[in-house]
Amino acid sequence: MDLRTVFTSVFLVAGMMTAAGGAVAAGGVVKDPTGIAPDRYVYYPGTEALAKDEIRLIACGTGLPAARRDQAATCWLTELGNGDKFLFDVGTGSMANVAALMIPYDFLDKVFLTHLHTDHWGDLSTLWAGGWTAGRTRPLRVWGPTGQTPDMGTAYAIEHFLKAFNWDAKTRNFVLSAQPGKILVKEFDYKAVNAVVYQENGATIRSIPAIHAGDGPVSFILEYAGLKVVIGGDTFPNKWYIKHATGADVAIHETFLTPTDLVRFYGQSAAQAIGVGTQIHTSPPAFGKVMSTIKPRHAIGYHFFNEQSTHDHIMQGVRSTYSGPLSLAVDDMVWNITKEKIVERMIVSPDQAWSVNGPNRPPAPPARGSVPDPISAFIKAGRWQPAEKAQAPMVDKFKKDHNLK
Ligand SMILES: [Zn+2]
Ligand SMILES: [Zn+2]
Repeated sequence: MDLRTVFTSVFLVAGMMTAAGGAVAAGGVVKDPTGIAPDRYVYYPGTEALAKDEIRLIACGTGLPAARRDQAATCWLTELGNGDKFLFDVGTGSMANVAALMIPYDFLDKVFLTHLHTDHWGDLSTLWAGGWTAGRTRPLRVWGPTGQTPDMGTAYAIEHFLKAFNWDAKTRNFVLSAQPGKILVKEFDYKAVNAVVYQENGATIRSIPAIHAGDGPVSFILEYAGLKVVIGGDTFPNKWYIKHATGADVAIHETFLTPTDLVRFYGQSAAQAIGVGTQIHTSPPAFGKVMSTIKPRHAIGYHFFNEQSTHDHIMQGVRSTYSGPLSLAVDDMVWNITKEKIVERMIVSPDQAWSVNGPNRPPAPPARGSVPDPISAFIKAGRWQPAEKAQAPMVDKFKKDHNLK
């Protein structure tokens, strides 16, 4: 929270300095004690319509594989003016941030995975099962890369994800339609360069290879309404990103903790830190070199625990090689992107959000007897009758109120 205050302050100071003439409060001037503010410098989810040619980009996870309450692992949500929404990675812990946006789960059915480290897809389980219980009416669709061998690819991962969660699926299938519990996989060649992996409704998503830990990882390029947003997955700087991210309106690329901070905070050995921080990830000076080469309208660095000390070290490294527009992302940052401007704000959303229904009715649950009962007679016979009696008046009233038998 401290860090967000710092960011907000920096944003405000910059805003005030650029405002011509007198002081301008962030929310505008409230002229009347019963009036409303003409503007706010934060984003309240669900309160702003997107223009047709606009993209909203939200950082729903910017951290690391180790859990931290302040920063979930990698997840980027893009919302397009045509209504399309794409999740790029759903790293561990990120779905709590996604859920706080209160977007109906039916609109969150398209997921693009950069690679299969848990910090990039660990919360697929939460989206899959949580969305199934909370209003998604159709299968999830997942796009992801192949690997060097079939068992290293996305199709294998999803097939075995569903096997691992077989008990979860079979017990839900008894009371819910099985349709939203399905996952449709579209696996594409990780070596394909700038190849189209998705093209619908005026939106195109392309894939380029990445260099990270093993073959398979990719980065994505989203094009919509003449805008280009590059969503970089884990990678050492690579020639494909340099070539195809050039001209991006927004270029997201990892910038990892400095080797010194990996030793100091993450408890890594010096040998491990220099390998992790400069060979399979991107160091801050290398990130800066990428951005000063491709010159995006706006650069976003992420994939580190962003606190005062790490932030300063990373900023120093990046600024040694890049002086352009930059955000070092934290969770709940949002950018509105149009041809005219790119506006960065922080999101204000509830910690206690509920799911919101979309326009589609959930498919009917299975007919009684069509799905095997997952609870045996032996287990049912163990129900403690005093509890049934205790709740009987509440049950009877509810059934009467809702015309249930
Ligand atoms: Zn990774
Ligand atoms: Zn990662």
